[in-house]
Parts: sequence; structure tokens; C-alpha cells
Amino acid sequence: MTSEEKLRWKKCDECGFLQHKSHLRCLNCKNDKFTLMEASGECTLITFTILNAPPAEFRDKPSYALGVVEFENGIKGLGQITTQDNLKTGMRLKPVYQKICENLDGKEINAFVFEPI
Ligand SMILES: [Zn+2]
Repeated sequence: MTSEEKLRWKKCDECGFLQHKSHLRCLNCKNDKFTLMEASGECTLITFTILNAPPAEFRDKPSYALGVVEFENGIKGLGQITTQDNLKTGMRLKPVYQKICENLDGKEINAFVFEPI
């Protein structure tokens, strides 16, 4: 796996607050020193929705499920779920890194999707 294939979040060195790596300063205490944390293991489905009008990149699918998950170490992720059937919050999922679509230029896009265990 290359580094792009891992879900990483920043943990604040000052207060321990966990946040998405796009933030430059801690949302809790404004500190700018972090330790990168990697999502590991299985995750739990926190919430999900079924998109019935997917963006153009996903034109090969009439609809798909999009969920927010939380890993055992507190990291959260957003991604497609591999099925739309029998989804319920609190269920266990595992992350799978795979092709999710081709963009409008025909380039393959890979991302994490979540598969019920
Ligand atoms: Zn902080």
C-alpha cells in the first residue's frame, strides 16, 4: 500500500483532539503540531444515505449508498458502501481500497469503500 491508500487523521499534540488532515490548526485549541494517525481495523457505520441521483462520474450506477464510519481508534471516514441492502447504523464494516469510478476524462478513480462484514 502506498501512503495515499491509507486513511490518515491528525491528532493534536497539545489536547489530543482528532481531526481531518485538511485542517492546519487544531479546531479545539489552535495548536499546529500534530501526530498522524492511521485508520486501522474494522469500523462502525454511524450514518448513511442512499444517493438516487449520483454525480456524473458515477453514471454507471442508478444509485449508491454513502456512509460515515468510525474506526476503533476514533478516526472517521466517508465513502461509498458496497451494498444498499440491510444497512443499519452500528453495523460493522471493513474498508476496501478499490476503483470507484472513471472521471469525466476517463481516468480511473480509486478510493476507500466500506463493505459489511
Ligand atoms: Zn488541540
